[in-house]
Amino acid sequence: MFMLKIKFGPAGKPLNFKGDMIKVPEYLTNIGLDALEYEAVRGVKISEEKARRLGEEAKKHNVILSIHAPYFINLASPDENVIKRSLQRLRNSLFAAEWMGAYAVVFHPGYYKGNKSRDEATRKVVDALNNLMEEISDNITKPQIAPETTGKTSQVGDVDEIIEICRNVQRCRPCIDWAHLHARYQGNFIREVNEVLDVIEKIEKELGSRAVNPLHTHFSKIEYGKGGEKEHHTLREKEYGPEWKIVCKAYLETGISAVVISESPILDKDALLMKNICLTELKS
Ligand SMILES: [Zn+2]
Repeated sequence: MFMLKIKFGPAGKPLNFKGDMIKVPEYLTNIGLDALEYEAVRGVKISEEKARRLGEEAKKHNVILSIHAPYFINLASPDENVIKRSLQRLRNSLFAAEWMGAYAVVFHPGYYKGNKSRDEATRKVVDALNNLMEEISDNITKPQIAPETTGKTSQVGDVDEIIEICRNVQRCRPCIDWAHLHARYQGNFIREVNEVLDVIEKIEKELGSRAVNPLHTHFSKIEYGKGGEKEHHTLREKEYGPEWKIVCKAYLETGISAVVISESPILDKDALLMKNICLTELKS
């Protein structure tokens, strides 16, 4: 019997799903998926009651939940008020995650701009997160914050910076977006299995096995320019990378468990394609 230790799902409502968010977990199970990232990218608007109902549905249908916090977060800003507002958005996301029983709150840490060095920007992110965690730790039991590897060279978020943040903040696990890493390095990274293995091994070594059990990840193909990320693309578009197969191979080789959120324009359809590619790899 082949066992896949990887869960797959869309970033937000499935493509052809019409109806209430509450019904998404059941829909996902029926089509063969078992993960969902709730998109709060334009603000956390879900009520406590609805979040709790979504959580119950997800539990009932065995769908693992995560949340993507709002895009407008910059914890490295030179402007105190921007940091304050960013922390408020993160705080709202953490409470919504707590209500839903979501295990991870994904967010983009911020921008280097206005800092003397990349290290200074990363330190600022760490300080801001520690203040927030200290404040709310008594009220949060389930979710961890998950700073994501980012796609633009202007953003805090290469692999080392994400590890550095998680090493210094409690309740933190990394979110690895393989497409972003590919775009950040103009296609010169995430080209082969070894490069994926290196990232996984580094995370496990620096943050411990809990960080890869499961490893929270995003995938799609991606278009990039001089500054990195431009646009997410579908798996079938041959002119773009990275290749899903090499990432899956690395997961299977290390034996880690992983959650893979499809950020492709065709969300759940590509999540299913990724799952099928992995199943084929597993049997070969
Ligand atoms: Zn992502």
